[in-house]
Amino acid sequence: METSTNKLPTILIVGAGIGGLSLYQSIRKNLGQKFNVKIFERENCPEERWQGYNIYIRRQGVTSLFYCTPPEVQARFPEAMPDPVPKEHHTIAIIDHIGRLLLHIPQPKFKSVYEIESLKHDFAGIITYRNRLRDVLLEGVDIQWGKKCIGYEESEDGVWVLFEDGTREFGDLLIGADGINSPIRKQKVPNLEIFNLGITGVNVDIAIPKHLADKMATFYSNSLMQKSIGRNGDSFFSFMRLVPIEKSDEPCYRLSLGYHYPTILDIEDENCKVDDDNPESVIKHTISRIKQLRPPCELTDLMIELFSLAPYSDPEKKNLFPRRRPLRDIDPLSVPPWKDDRIVLLGDAAHAMNPILGLGANNAIQDADLLTKELLKYENDNLIECIRQYNTKMRARASKDVQASRTTALRQTVSVGGFGLFARYCMLRVINAFINIVVFIQTRT
Ligand SMILES: Cc1cc2nc3c(=O)[nH]c(=O)nc-3n(C[C@H](O)[C@H](O)[C@H](O)COP(=O)(O)OP(=O)(O)OC[C@H]3O[C@@H](n4cnc5c(N)ncnc54)[C@H](O)[C@@H]3O)c2cc1C
Repeated sequence: METSTNKLPTILIVGAGIGGLSLYQSIRKNLGQKFNVKIFERENCPEERWQGYNIYIRRQGVTSLFYCTPPEVQARFPEAMPDPVPKEHHTIAIIDHIGRLLLHIPQPKFKSVYEIESLKHDFAGIITYRNRLRDVLLEGVDIQWGKKCIGYEESEDGVWVLFEDGTREFGDLLIGADGINSPIRKQKVPNLEIFNLGITGVNVDIAIPKHLADKMATFYSNSLMQKSIGRNGDSFFSFMRLVPIEKSDEPCYRLSLGYHYPTILDIEDENCKVDDDNPESVIKHTISRIKQLRPPCELTDLMIELFSLAPYSDPEKKNLFPRRRPLRDIDPLSVPPWKDDRIVLLGDAAHAMNPILGLGANNAIQDADLLTKELLKYENDNLIECIRQYNTKMRARASKDVQASRTTALRQTVSVGGFGLFARYCMLRVINAFINIVVFIQTRT
């Protein structure tokens, strides 16, 4: 594959999510001498789709974010990742169905996001506002909005990306960063299919008053990434920051809350009549599942109270609604390696993963970092080799995380009796001890 020597090759990015924007920033910062870049997004403006919920960005993701972004973007990181406040532990705690602690990763000590990269702590990371991270990554980006991609056409010397509005654009490389339903992936690798885990998730973002946040902190030993595994194949997860979002007599905090349960329960339940376009109906249904699958106890009461706080939002903004959604993923190693050519997949388009381990956005940012480093080696006629290196490394890393997320999710959907519960308790306590030893050694040296 050769490109004209007297002009810079052009990279076309489709999709201005966290992955596409990280790549755009990185090309401008690290590859500006070698490539032009253009980015296209189907939405008409930044606010069109709700981008909310808290996500966990681990140290590897933070490191890649710093690599990809220029100083003026880095200076705004605290808007999306505010400095830790007292009592905040940016780690995970797992409890059982009645609130007994099973696993608690030791707290890495850092004063701001700027200190995370250099921490010697494998489990370091920070709870991040996903919508604000996207806003920050939009800084200085010249997006062509309202451009819904419907496919592409390859020619001898480049690629045309095709849009729903009848227009098209020519470039040397096309990056499909267009999410789990990517039309670019469907055309390029039609046999790479979405896997449905048979688990239903209901996710909501809520503002919780301080007295409830304090209760959560007690159950989860101040950890901000929180998980409670039930014995009937269900689980809660929540991501919290203790940075007040509203100034009132009692401070309020933003909590992203999810409840997962086996989909078969809804399929086999003849009385299950949920209207997914009606948030009240979804929340009512979720609470009835919680009552069915959880024992009466303080933790169950707390979860029901939290779900009852879910906002019944403006019907115009449907994405704010709590909805039942199937947990799905895409394993890039489930098919033979696809052709290394001008069409490149990045982020969820290549390897969507369920949110149980909080790794999807991290992988999208790491893809942007990796692709940049491979393209740095580009000289005249070796573009294909750069892409080959990227595809091979990206698939291996991401597939590992897809499989880890899938295994963890599926393991939790198994109902356990007394012995199973004991085995789970022992296993998680052993893992807990192991992690604590690793972190102790890492942070001492
Ligand atoms: C509840 C929940 C919690 C999560 N928690 C975490 C976490 O803690 N940590 C973590 O790392 N990850 C987490 N994730 C996953 C993370 O949000 C995704 O992996 C990440 O957003 C993927 O980024 P992306 O840029 O690849 O895709 P997306 O964010 O999906 O962006 C794709 C972009 O492409 C655009 N687009 C789509 N189709 C077209 C088209 N045809 N033409 C043009 N543009 C198009 C979309 O509008 C969008 O802007 C979570 C996900 C969920 C649902």
